[in-house]
Amino acid sequence: MVTGVDLGIPRVPTARTAPDRPRPAEPALVDSFGRVATDLRVSVTDRCNLRCTYCMPAEGLDWMPQQQVLTDDELVRLVDIAVRLLGVTDVRLTGGEPLLRPHLEDLVARMAALTPRPRLAMTTNGVGFAKRARAFADAGLDRINISLDTIDPETFATMTRRDRLRHVLDALAAARDAGLEPVKINAVLMRGLNDHQATDLLRFALDHGYHLRFIEQMPLDAQHGWSRADMITADEILALLRTEFDLTPSPTRRGGAPAERWLVNGGPGEVGIIPSVTRPFCAACERTRLTADGAVRSCLFSTTETDLRGLLREGADDERIADAWRDAMWGKLAGHEINEAGFAQPIRPMSAIGG
Ligand code: SAM
Ligand code: SF4
Repeated sequence: MVTGVDLGIPRVPTARTAPDRPRPAEPALVDSFGRVATDLRVSVTDRCNLRCTYCMPAEGLDWMPQQQVLTDDELVRLVDIAVRLLGVTDVRLTGGEPLLRPHLEDLVARMAALTPRPRLAMTTNGVGFAKRARAFADAGLDRINISLDTIDPETFATMTRRDRLRHVLDALAAARDAGLEPVKINAVLMRGLNDHQATDLLRFALDHGYHLRFIEQMPLDAQHGWSRADMITADEILALLRTEFDLTPSPTRRGGAPAERWLVNGGPGEVGIIPSVTRPFCAACERTRLTADGAVRSCLFSTTETDLRGLLREGADDERIADAWRDAMWGKLAGHEINEAGFAQPIRPMSAIGG
């Protein structure tokens, strides 16, 4: 049985420390393994209105004090530096739940007005998005990923600890109607909760023309509840889907994108599987990350970060900030070390990094 698609993505050995060679005088965000980051993930808030069990505890988290969160002007300035001086071409707004940031449409419009204009995307849980979809599209949002793990209302309420399935389904339809296509769905499977509904979710996505991608659960939850034994692997996801669908490797090139793509029943419908843990795509990573309080992280799993907010607030000029960002990227490690002995989960949970 084919259990994965090998599309020739190079593998790099993991290394606990990046080499201490001097950084070359290049404007782009290069790292010492030859990767170039062009894709910026911006967390606009660490707050959330759902409580997904694989992400945070029922009581929520101690949210960042407001004065620590970057202001709109600070955020736009950093994104401007990223696209104008560092070669970033793609910006994705995330969180926490990005829609909880007041006036996010205005922030999108300001980012869409930058030169060069970045492609703008958002990852959201969709709650409250339906009535704002048109405004986001008008502001310049190009694409959207909406998270949905099940189409069963009871399972949804159990997994997110909130009864909001209708909001998410409405968000998906509104995104499509507003032209934010292809509308992508992100799903995480949890053993004994929604794994038996994976095929229902795929059928729903195919029926509506949404692009579904399953993400392997990663050790990034605030309550440290992840366990390797409980995680549903990419191979298991494939096997679950194959109980009802015929899946063949998609001819579409994966490039730096993390999803392994499969044609469903000969196509044109597809499904993606992101094997972040079992088949890491670190060697093809094109990402850099900015947290809501202005820290640059070169990886979701970084244990170090570079504070840009301090530089901003002490009056540093654009070139100095860009250089600090380049230094941060130069120190990027080869890959996450989830599969290595001694792996330590980063202190910041996914919701405070930006997923
Ligand atoms: N609140 C928004 C949402 O849920 O789409 C954006 C932030 S959320 C952290 C981004 C994505 O990360 C979601 O698709 C979510 O399902 C996924 N995610 C959260 N915790 C995860 C984990 N431990 N492993 C894998 N994916 C996770
Ligand atoms: Fe909130 Fe997204 Fe985390 Fe769910 S995955 S709790 S929606 S930040």
